[in-house]
Amino acid sequence: MPCFDMVVVGSGGGPDETNLSAYLIKPFHANWGDGIVALEAGSGMGALTQILKHTPDLFTSRLQDCNSAPGYSASAIYSFIRCFLITHAHLDHVNSLIISAGSLGGSRKRIFATEQTLHDLETVFADRIWPNLASWKEDDDSFRYLYTSLLTDDQYRNVATDISVRTMPISHGHNDTSGVYDSAAFFVRHDPSTREFLFFGDVSPDTLSPKPRTVNVWRAAAAKIPLTLSTIFIECSWPSGRADDLLYGHLSPIHLADELTVLATEVAMARKFVVKDLRNESGPTRKKSKSNPLSPESLYGALDGVRVFVIHCKDGHEVTYDRSINHIIADQVRALVAAKRLGADILAADQGMRIGASMILMHSI
Ligand SMILES: [Zn+2]
Ligand SMILES: [Zn+2]
Repeated sequence: MPCFDMVVVGSGGGPDETNLSAYLIKPFHANWGDGIVALEAGSGMGALTQILKHTPDLFTSRLQDCNSAPGYSASAIYSFIRCFLITHAHLDHVNSLIISAGSLGGSRKRIFATEQTLHDLETVFADRIWPNLASWKEDDDSFRYLYTSLLTDDQYRNVATDISVRTMPISHGHNDTSGVYDSAAFFVRHDPSTREFLFFGDVSPDTLSPKPRTVNVWRAAAAKIPLTLSTIFIECSWPSGRADDLLYGHLSPIHLADELTVLATEVAMARKFVVKDLRNESGPTRKKSKSNPLSPESLYGALDGVRVFVIHCKDGHEVTYDRSINHIIADQVRALVAAKRLGADILAADQGMRIGASMILMHSI
């Protein structure tokens, strides 16, 4: 059985403002009305209203109320949100959180993010660009949002019933004024089962970054794959052929395939050392290694049972494609990963999709 239910409100990376990063999740066995976690908030109620015109039963529970559930409106669904989880404060990730701040129904909502990201949001909620509708105080009920910092330690923080999150910093480009720009990766855990999925905010290739930190995320994920972690959401903003100096802090297929190779290496090493440790009565012997001591053949099938959803694809290219850009890019990533025989299943996340996340055999819906 899956552990999470997810609805993709938007999976693009711009410039189409009707399809920007926004995912709604709940524990699989809960009802949407029991509370929703909004993972990113690029697109929002407007996009969901359009989606529901085509699939009015998108939020009908497959378990409790197959035939009897009302078709929820977008505003009803957004009133169920208990908290937002935000990887970084770029507009394509927070647009709807800002626009709808004064009109969301339901209880006061927390915004979980790193302190830097929350400070970035404060510059918007400062009575100039937008009214101040958020505060840091627990008892400020007149403010619709409650800023809540996530630490980038190795702890899981409970963010909603049965859902906890571990936050890791990653690099998302850099500029002359502020240096490396931080984004975040979230390990989202279903507490009762301890299963989790991994969700990346925008991220640079480690091979090009002055501060390569994605490897830390792969290292933290490796030992969990695939039994407790089998679903990864990661950006691939550009199609193949994009020059490295025009990535602007994002991945292209060749770089995503390289990143997945690093993950496969970490998985293979974790398994190798588990076997070694079992044979070695004196206990664990693994030392941190900077280089890859493994041959390409030893990575074959290392990511069997892992689903990788490609997200944040940018549209609006000069080249005209016969299909949507996220499918073009997913195909390109899939071919590269297949050539390396890593074993991962590469999928495109589509707007309006409902996904049962965090299980090996669940298919996207
Ligand atoms: Zn960004
Ligand atoms: Zn973005």
